[in-house]
Amino acid sequence: MKQGKLIVFSAPSGSGKTTIVRHLLKQEELNLEFSISATSREKRGQEVHGKDYYYLSLKEFKDKIKADEFLEWEEVYRDNFYGTLKTEVERIWAKGKHVIFDIDVSGGLRIKRKFPEQTLAIFVKPPDLNELVKRLKERGEESEEKISMRVSKAPAELATAPLFDEIVVNSNLEDALKDAYNLVSDFLKD
Ligand code: 5GP
Repeated sequence: MKQGKLIVFSAPSGSGKTTIVRHLLKQEELNLEFSISATSREKRGQEVHGKDYYYLSLKEFKDKIKADEFLEWEEVYRDNFYGTLKTEVERIWAKGKHVIFDIDVSGGLRIKRKFPEQTLAIFVKPPDLNELVKRLKERGEESEEKISMRVSKAPAELATAPLFDEIVVNSNLEDALKDAYNLVSDFLKD
């Protein structure tokens, strides 16, 4: 199978990386396809199985870990596992497309380490922590408790930013979308 490239977007939750990833997916000339992760967390809002995530029970997820079916996986929050199935990347490469990931910082860096040449790892930085809390609240999909769990992880996640190939600061969304587009399109050229 011809291998394509891997574009990783990682960031603290609420920094806008999902918006950036969705925008890039709409740019057909980039030839990207979204890597649908598996997760043991509950479905949120309008999410759809097989589109946003493959929703698995905790047991199913752990069985797949044992069977070595993941390229990378992480217990991002307690009992909330997330991971990239090896078959997912194979599925996308088989279509002659490049893979784009929306995953947490540890998973992103693990993919970069596994495929150093093929991967562009981009960190999306929120302007500051207050803005992050504001965005998560505006999203209105989760309890205060879940939001604080996400926010409490942010400082450690922000500390990993220098390990990424590139950093996009998302203070102004339009600029962030342009920056992200230019980085990805340059990387896919060679
Ligand atoms: P959410 O619950 O908001 O959809 O995702 C929570 C966090 O898990 C986000 O930072 C998201 O990027 C990350 N995540 C989603 N899929 C994966 C994955 O396959 N692997 C890893 N390591 N993290 C993921």
